[in-house]
Amino acid sequence: MNRRSAGVHVRVQGVVQGVGYRPWVWQLANCRGIRGSVWNDGRGVVIEAWGEEDVMADFLVALRHQAPPLAAVESVRIDSLSSDCQTPPVGFHILSSNEDEVHTGIAADAATCPACIAEIFDAENRRHRYPFTNCTHCGPRFSIVRAIPWDRGNTSMAGFSMCRRCAREYGDPADRRFHAQPNACPQCGPRVWLETGDEGSGLVAGIDAIKHAASLLEEGRIVAIKGIGGMHLACDAGNEGAVRRLRSRKLRHHKAFALMARDIAMVREHAGVEAIGEAALCSPVAPVVIFPARGRRLAESVAPGQDTLGFMLPYTPLHHLLMAEVNRPLIMTSGNRSDEPQCTENDEARKRLAGIADAFLLHDRDIVTRVDDSVQRVMAGRLRTLRRARGIAPSPLALPEGFRDVPRVLAMGGELKSSFCLLMDGKAVVSQHLGDLEDAASFAEYRRMLMHYIGLYDFVPEVIAVDAHPDYLSTKWGWRLAREKGIPCIEVQHHHAHATACLAETGKAVDSEPAIAVVLDGLGYGSDGMPWGGEFLLADYRESRRLARFHPVALPGGNRAAREPWRNALAHLHACPQWKYWRVRYGKLDLLAFLEQKPLAALERMLEKGINSPLASSAGRLFDAVAAALGIDREQVDFEGQAALRLETLAQRVTEPVSGYPVAREGRELMWPTMWQALLDDLERGTEVALMAARFHRGLAGAVSDLAADLCHENRVATVILSGGVFQNRLLLEMVDRQLGEKGLQVLIPEKLPANDGGISLGQAVTAALNNG
Ligand SMILES: [Zn+2]
Ligand SMILES: [Zn+2]
Repeated sequence: MNRRSAGVHVRVQGVVQGVGYRPWVWQLANCRGIRGSVWNDGRGVVIEAWGEEDVMADFLVALRHQAPPLAAVESVRIDSLSSDCQTPPVGFHILSSNEDEVHTGIAADAATCPACIAEIFDAENRRHRYPFTNCTHCGPRFSIVRAIPWDRGNTSMAGFSMCRRCAREYGDPADRRFHAQPNACPQCGPRVWLETGDEGSGLVAGIDAIKHAASLLEEGRIVAIKGIGGMHLACDAGNEGAVRRLRSRKLRHHKAFALMARDIAMVREHAGVEAIGEAALCSPVAPVVIFPARGRRLAESVAPGQDTLGFMLPYTPLHHLLMAEVNRPLIMTSGNRSDEPQCTENDEARKRLAGIADAFLLHDRDIVTRVDDSVQRVMAGRLRTLRRARGIAPSPLALPEGFRDVPRVLAMGGELKSSFCLLMDGKAVVSQHLGDLEDAASFAEYRRMLMHYIGLYDFVPEVIAVDAHPDYLSTKWGWRLAREKGIPCIEVQHHHAHATACLAETGKAVDSEPAIAVVLDGLGYGSDGMPWGGEFLLADYRESRRLARFHPVALPGGNRAAREPWRNALAHLHACPQWKYWRVRYGKLDLLAFLEQKPLAALERMLEKGINSPLASSAGRLFDAVAAALGIDREQVDFEGQAALRLETLAQRVTEPVSGYPVAREGRELMWPTMWQALLDDLERGTEVALMAARFHRGLAGAVSDLAADLCHENRVATVILSGGVFQNRLLLEMVDRQLGEKGLQVLIPEKLPANDGGISLGQAVTAALNNG
């Protein structure tokens, strides 16, 4: 005989609101004849349930181990209810929430689910070809919400009132659209149209709009397409003329364009897809995933000078319908001019993209929050996030034990690839990628987003954390907020923040032993006020100490050195004791001839006197110097890391084993003269450029791992952190990771957050939280 068990009280925490969690519980309970209720409160979901013992046991196992697709359960706590306190109700009920208490954040946007895709391609379904189809398990979330709680009235769906049939779905706990806030259909929801600017036929509405857009794309035209988190610019990725036209109109000459394919089979025609990358492509995040280019070639200008392609799959019904029409890969790049934030509003797009797009595929559901496409890549065996945005933000990261009782911190992030971070209740909410704050529009967007998040999370910071760089706009803004609120502002050194972000996301406990952090990036403000970027730190959450570094080399012309790689080649050669001799000895080399054309006398005077030539231990600039020496992007680059990316591409083409260039070590510094000597000899011998690129990578990886391992040994440390933007170089990362692993060391590499400056806001937050008072 089954016995009726005492009632249980269950508390579920994590991302469990606005993701269909309550109806999922309702179904679990109903099909088992369990009585009770479920509701949302300020900390998550609460369940009270009564039933027969074995059925209850089964129910609790399901709660612990299963969840609807968009939920992310962090904890399930089960307590028994004292038997006299309550009598079980009849049936199982979803209770409405007390809205004042609900502030557990908002789920990320999710790619269209298989059930909804099936509906839009089903001629019998009332949502046949409807581009805004969604349900509780898919569709826009974060990008359409204006305020909390997650209710239709607080989203850009507020203006569309549901028809009777939609309302019935919305109100039925057994329906997969129960409480789907953006629920819509052709009768009551948003509409799509195409603007071509042609006389007479300038406006095409309804499903014909998508067909018409597809035919324009087939003709090689550029179409602006309104998506979930912003506008894309699309064109046929197989049409070289169209891709070039897009490049010149958008003023984007080198950076690779993202692609969208109809399905995974189409991605496979052009790229080498492995299992982890495929799973990412098909996940509700639906990021751009970087794969090796392989098989049938697309237009040369899609990713000039690179052997990789970034693909995503359709993630809205509109994309699915469009891709079914064109049936070929499309460029899908952000709808903006060069470095500005991408457009989100129809009027803004018509104005700003007027000279770029030939037509506009628009709709009347407003984008409240701009979220770019996320970018991921498999490196060192794991999926790594290179840009964290749509589909991921603002999902919270659970922090290790010990972060539950720390003050609430607002961390302002860096300057390039910026993000900010809200630390509260043992978790960190990191904003989506917000771009480079040097751009005025991006900085305005950053400030607007800060207010938006503070509102959504009802967040009152007790501490502000900033980078130590006095000139970062995020730093200045942080100091200003701290003054206004009368709360402390804590500076966290740039490379220390890189290290602690990695500790936090890999779940290291608050008081864990220090690690050796190898942080390689462009430039960050050092604790001695100098620009750093090739650092070996002994770091835990609270403190860091610089143990070793790349030998500092001047940046002639300061910031110009980041845009003109040849300046770094000159500075590096000039810093070698043999420079005067080399100038004569290798005078016939193309490299030396190039440098001789520059105002060398004046530059040398600058370098010798240290005029506008700060000394920097930058790994990024070392890559620029070597690239320039090999004749890659020698004169100028469009974006930081461009030359390094091409250097990596060339090196990857070398499959046979090569010997690395020798890198010497003097005391606690890696020195470059022996490397330059070998490289100049190779140039003189006319060695293949790819081979030289490979020898540089190999030599650097060996020197970095040897030094890191020696530092581990000296400091009795068993863990090495690898972070900083330079470690987005797959070849370097994998070589260093392997070599350290072979020496028996544990290697920590960022995964959930980018290794570049997009991740430092998390590091600032955790370090400041522990260093306050
Ligand atoms: Zn769906
Ligand atoms: Zn409807």
